[in-house]
Amino acid sequence: MNTETTIKSITNLQGTWELRNGYKMPYLGLGVWKAEDGEEVINAVKWAIEAGYRHIDTAKAYDNEEGVGKGIKDSGVAREELFITSKLWNNDQGYESTLKAFDKTLQRLDTDYLDLYLIHWPVEGKYKNTWRAMEKLYKEGKIKAIGVSNFLEHHLMDLMKDCEVKPMVDQLEFHPWLVQEDLQKFCAENDIQYEAWSPLMQGKAFENETLKEIGEKYGKTPAQVVLRWDLQNGVITIPKSTSKDHIKSNANVFDFELSEEDMQTITNLDKGRRIGPDPDNFDF
Ligand code: NAD
Repeated sequence: MNTETTIKSITNLQGTWELRNGYKMPYLGLGVWKAEDGEEVINAVKWAIEAGYRHIDTAKAYDNEEGVGKGIKDSGVAREELFITSKLWNNDQGYESTLKAFDKTLQRLDTDYLDLYLIHWPVEGKYKNTWRAMEKLYKEGKIKAIGVSNFLEHHLMDLMKDCEVKPMVDQLEFHPWLVQEDLQKFCAENDIQYEAWSPLMQGKAFENETLKEIGEKYGKTPAQVVLRWDLQNGVITIPKSTSKDHIKSNANVFDFELSEEDMQTITNLDKGRRIGPDPDNFDF
């Protein structure tokens, strides 16, 4: 999509972009890392769906899939209207273990399919067999779209050399300090949807003077500015919050448009600095 087409496509909280296989993914979702299983995550999911969110991002490693499933049931919104992502944890990688881990994830979420399943981290020597299991589940219709997370260009190239179905999404750390334009370009060229984790820089975005100044101009918070910058960049974003007010306000990004100049000013904040682990050097 070019910039103009992207901006036109950003309409409301239930708006979607099409993945390579035509499956529609809402471009703004709720992240639930560190939301405690039980009341905290149940409420966050319920409040988000009430506010109009249709996309929830969880993972086996977050230990809250059960609560996410309950929040979904409590919301009263039909399963088919929601987009649920989960991720396969590192110690479950491998062909048979992926199939088993996937079944357990479905049980905990109390659903019979996932919209998107991701390999959480590129565990060397394992991710190719893992991917074969993901492809099988995809072909059986148990997952509507399959993708990866924390895969850099060389991981993607290595995986795509041997796969039948190319990953449709790559979920990566992405915020004004870590833009990775080359990786974005590579994903665009290969029709892999870029998705941002820690879009709010785990809170650091709120103290950034540039984001504050731009926000004042538009009457928006730094969080709203940075989430809008994600969308105008064609990047799917999943801010995390368990506060009802923040969940609502993070979704209030559809009534303004950042100018090209402000987009560039935010991109220029890039320092190539990670908040989270390095996909080329992690030990978990
Ligand atoms: P984030 O950048 O979304 O920031 C979340 C923090 O900001 C929380 O402390 C929250 O309380 C606070 N916050 C949110 N909205 C606010 C507001 N309007 N005002 C003030 N404070 C606000 O951080 P994150 O949770 O790391 O990332 C988002 C999601 O991305 C996660 O929940 C998870 O779903 C996903 N994620 C994926 C990976 C991966 O490896 N694939 C890694 C990290 C996160």
